Amino acid sequence: MAGPLSEIFAVDVTAAVGRCSGCGSTGPVARLRVYGPEPGLVARCPDCEQVVLRLVRGPDAAWLDLRGAVSLRIALPS
Ligand SMILES: [Zn+2]
Repeated sequence: MAGPLSEIFAVDVTAAVGRCSGCGSTGPVARLRVYGPEPGLVARCPDCEQVVLRLVRGPDAAWLDLRGAVSLRIALPS
């Protein structure tokens, strides 16, 4: 998922720490189980299998569904 997300975000989102809205577990986005790529990428929580992130890339736009994540902690330079 690092490649498709790097097209959208300037930071490496796979290193961001997300909290699952299903079970509350936290961990880096890179820890999510990714399925796809067709019809879109789906990333599930490794602890409860809830869908945390969906990414669909169309010809001229991308749709990012993050409703399965309570938050994302993105480290930035101080
Ligand atoms: Zn979970």
